[in-house]
Amino acid sequence: MSQDTSPEVVALSADSGIPTPRPLLSVPKSELLAWMAAVGQPGYRHKQISQWMVDRRVTSFDQMTDLPAGFRDQLSKEFRFSSFEQVGHQIASDRTEKLLLQLPDGEHMECVLMRDPGRRTACISTQVGCAMGCVFCASGLLGVKRDLTAAEIFEQVLVLHRLMEDEERITNVVVMGIGEPLANYRNLMSALEFLTDEFGLGARRITVSTVGLPKQIREFARCGRQFNLAVSLHAPNDELRTEIVPVNQGIGLNEILSAADEFFAITGRRISYEYVLLSGINDQPDHAQELSMLLRGRNAHVNLIPVNSVSELSVSAPLPPMTHRFAAVLESRGIQVTVRKRKGTDIDAACGQLRLHRSDSDRLTH
Ligand code: SAH
Repeated sequence: MSQDTSPEVVALSADSGIPTPRPLLSVPKSELLAWMAAVGQPGYRHKQISQWMVDRRVTSFDQMTDLPAGFRDQLSKEFRFSSFEQVGHQIASDRTEKLLLQLPDGEHMECVLMRDPGRRTACISTQVGCAMGCVFCASGLLGVKRDLTAAEIFEQVLVLHRLMEDEERITNVVVMGIGEPLANYRNLMSALEFLTDEFGLGARRITVSTVGLPKQIREFARCGRQFNLAVSLHAPNDELRTEIVPVNQGIGLNEILSAADEFFAITGRRISYEYVLLSGINDQPDHAQELSMLLRGRNAHVNLIPVNSVSELSVSAPLPPMTHRFAAVLESRGIQVTVRKRKGTDIDAACGQLRLHRSDSDRLTH
């Protein structure tokens, strides 16, 4: 690894709170151009650097062979190559891969690469931990530590891209990793802009999953892009939803569904409703029936997710016949439904299994 990962170079600059040296991709273009002019480099170098960083799978400034050696040295002194250091890499039997990444301030987060025929999907995180407290999810076990910056969000796609062979590309992005994306709205939107404008991914290939924050859903609807929205519903009524998704307390299904309706009205994109099946809690035919009433007349698609196990949590998935029965009730009432395929469960990379790892600073101080 290059010098950008050594602990000595991690100093917090007093004014901004951002660790220095800064990751190159977190530096605004105008600032980078001004710096390049100051060190006597022509403006077109910016394009060369961004091609290396985004399209080609290099891992250090040194590998940017069409830049003068002296300039590569200057770059390594002034900037970090990446926003994080890769400290863990697991590969599941179904070839799902999970990365554990360490951030400059010692925090950790995870992201996942999933392979399907003709499709390579990056599942990325938006926060260190999560504040939503869903009772079946590992990501919120330790609460939330901080938001990820825009660069920390989109660079996950670049590191996952680098795991693949030359001819493979990331074809889809799901913002379904650790954190509540819409609770980190500004950084999320800058990251998505990078993915569409710089990385070249169509907005229709990007899906943002939310616990259901109405105000931000309405804002997202107006962003002018064709992103997909997935809403984590998990229950057909407020009483049950508040039990398993505590943040529902102050929001309520009505508000969420009306914001989602607005999203559909503005974008024309069909909403996906995620429904984690928890044995004996929300998986009965009555629940399916109530859910079908709730979604009746809406252009909705229900994605059933038999819950993945989390060692600290006592939740279990229904047996397959129960899941199929639930799906059949929805279908018989005209609701489109799919059961989500499990991926990477043997390396804890499936939905709800990504988690906040204690940082080094925690270990020292607690
Ligand atoms: N905060 C966002 C995105 C994170 S999780 C949200 O709530 O949508 C992406 C999906 O995985 C969500 O639908 C979430 O509820 C689901 N999920 C969480 N824990 C799970 C688990 N243990 N098993 C299966 N799915 C889970």
